[in-house]
Amino acid sequence: MSATHILLKNASQLITLAGDNHRPRTGKDMSELGIIEHGDVWISHNQITAVGKDDRSPHEADIVIDCTGKVVMPGFVDPHTHLVFAGSRENELEMKLKGHTYMEILAAGGGILSTVGKTREASKEQLINEATQRLNTMLKFGTTTVEAKSGYGLEPATELKMLEVAKELNSQHPIDIVSTFLGAHAVPGEYKSRNKEYIDSMIAMLPEIAANRLAWFCDVFCEKGAFSLEESKAILTAAKEEGLRPKIHADEIENLGGSSLAAQLNAISAEHLAVTSEEDMKAMAQAGVVGVLLPGTPYSLMMEYANARKFIDMGVPVALATDLNPNCWTESMQFIISLACYQMKMTPAEAIVASTINAAHAIDRAGEIGSIEIGKKADIIILDVPNYQHIPYHFGVNHVETVIKDGVIVKGAE
Ligand SMILES: [Zn+2]
Repeated sequence: MSATHILLKNASQLITLAGDNHRPRTGKDMSELGIIEHGDVWISHNQITAVGKDDRSPHEADIVIDCTGKVVMPGFVDPHTHLVFAGSRENELEMKLKGHTYMEILAAGGGILSTVGKTREASKEQLINEATQRLNTMLKFGTTTVEAKSGYGLEPATELKMLEVAKELNSQHPIDIVSTFLGAHAVPGEYKSRNKEYIDSMIAMLPEIAANRLAWFCDVFCEKGAFSLEESKAILTAAKEEGLRPKIHADEIENLGGSSLAAQLNAISAEHLAVTSEEDMKAMAQAGVVGVLLPGTPYSLMMEYANARKFIDMGVPVALATDLNPNCWTESMQFIISLACYQMKMTPAEAIVASTINAAHAIDRAGEIGSIEIGKKADIIILDVPNYQHIPYHFGVNHVETVIKDGVIVKGAE
């Protein structure tokens, strides 16, 4: 439903997250939600035009939504997903339960490589259809912007196909999609033991990707059995020269030094970070690298969680994401917020900052989304909960009642 002027009236808690948008929140600032009680929000076209109280009469609004007893907050930003892929891997759950590790499953041709096979075979139309279903679920659960990585092609044609699919989805789906090139997600079977040649083939793609704005960021899976520190550095340095800002999958299973490399290269983020050292955290804090924590991944792999408390204490800005992929399939940032609290000991307030404004920083969009402030995009959700603590506390359900994306009511209030 589209309307020119929308008034959200009398939220029991209006969570603005207003503040300095120039840098991500760290330390104690990660607990600042900027709550206004009994707050109103005015939306005109696709923008927020008033926050808190406003002199205008409700009669000036085309639509008035009564938010009494409810929480109003910015739409969730999911800054790490592998949105575009074909098929599913539910068969691996039983392998994992028998004690096979992620890297053993990968070495046996499962994991990433099995999804690569299916994604190479899939038509663009099939990939669009499958990803659209995921996006629809994400939107219903309150996510209004997602990052999407390539990396299930591992050959130029399929990597391009994935990036083009993400671009197409961005234009046809209400959710905004910010693309990342992850050609270095794994070494494909045909390049086994020929990493250098494979890396050169991915580096050769960078100018075309940058020129056609098919991605904003370049990512690497820096991990034993995937890409070494030196290889990761070579790829990310080449990407930087083409104007693609680095991101890095670091310290997920073993610490190869990926998060310190992120600091050294002025990467926008380092992601996963289950086994990051204090030294690495210090380097990240100094360089302002956002630590994107993905508690869904250790949940689905039955492994150790990242030490979120330590990251926050060390001054690293923390963001949260789903890591949506065939190994960790969830579209729900609300579930991730629950895991962040119950498994990583983040407070509900920290988890909300990490899922909105800090998540927006992790994809360089904090100037336009991630908080409810005048001039920002009207990406707003209404949750049927009396206060924000209920979001993680009452878990496994969808609290989101209404989703407004770009000033349009895309869920609820029909
Ligand atoms: Zn990932």
